[in-house]
Amino acid sequence: MDLGLKGKKGIVCAASKGLGRACALALSREGVELVITARTASELEKTAAEITAETGVKVIPVAGDIATEEGRAAALAACPNPDILVNNAGGPPPGDFRDWTREDWIKAVDQNMLAPIFLIKSVVDGMIERQFGRIVNITSASVKSPIPVLGMSNGARAGLTGFVGGLARQVAKHNVVINNILPGPFLTDRLRSGALVQARQRNVPVEEIIAERAKSSPTGRVGDPAEFGDACAFLCSAKIGFIVGHNLLLDGGNFNSSIA
Ligand code: NAP
Repeated sequence: MDLGLKGKKGIVCAASKGLGRACALALSREGVELVITARTASELEKTAAEITAETGVKVIPVAGDIATEEGRAAALAACPNPDILVNNAGGPPPGDFRDWTREDWIKAVDQNMLAPIFLIKSVVDGMIERQFGRIVNITSASVKSPIPVLGMSNGARAGLTGFVGGLARQVAKHNVVINNILPGPFLTDRLRSGALVQARQRNVPVEEIIAERAKSSPTGRVGDPAEFGDACAFLCSAKIGFIVGHNLLLDGGNFNSSIA
């Protein structure tokens, strides 16, 4: 299916690796010119060059922390009128809520709630004027099914989800569509580093922990980031203007419900 995105412009945040990178690659394959961000310039530049080498489409790397005003301003300066915005950032650390200070919470809220909200604020009126916009927020399966040790993630992402649910319904009449994708376990560095912590605690190889996660899934595996990228490109498609304010759970069926 032609997603109708050739020649569109987009920003994909936190995209030097993992899920963000997969979204950037899938959009680039559809002919979307991109600005991609991450904090580590060398990794980001390498990713931009790799994507362009594969797709032949322009990808501009803009290094910076998307949780800061400067990081967002730099991305927007390189792509002031995006048709597509994919919001993403690292996730807050796990832990016991008794240990978290106000500063820890502010950091989590900045990164996983306010950064996407301020980026949306910067681009949404232009999208309305041009009568086209697609915004995808990468959140987490924890929004639907909270993960006890990830309390800051559960909280900050739920705040974003609530805000987006209301805004999506205000802008949809202008063909500006906002949706969220909720990843379950996808094989990225983040998943590997979490598995490594458990592997050390239990003194088993990291592969064993990942295999256990795979076994507990109805699919018998963990997700491939490329599958996530394709779903993201679909939700950015010109053809999905009637899919509004959804929370697409991409978890291989882990969440046990007749209605996911
Ligand atoms: P990852 O493989 O660790 O990749 C994270 C990417 O984000 C890197 O490119 C990193 O580059 C960039 N990044 C992190 N913080 C940033 C910031 N403040 N500003 C700009 N770039 C930033 O992680 P992932 O697995 O793709 O996860 C992406 C998001 O999905 C995270 O929020 C994660 O919590 C969530 N999630 C993932 C899974 C999963 O199974 N993979 C499941 C549920 C939720 P730099 O470090 O150089 O900035």
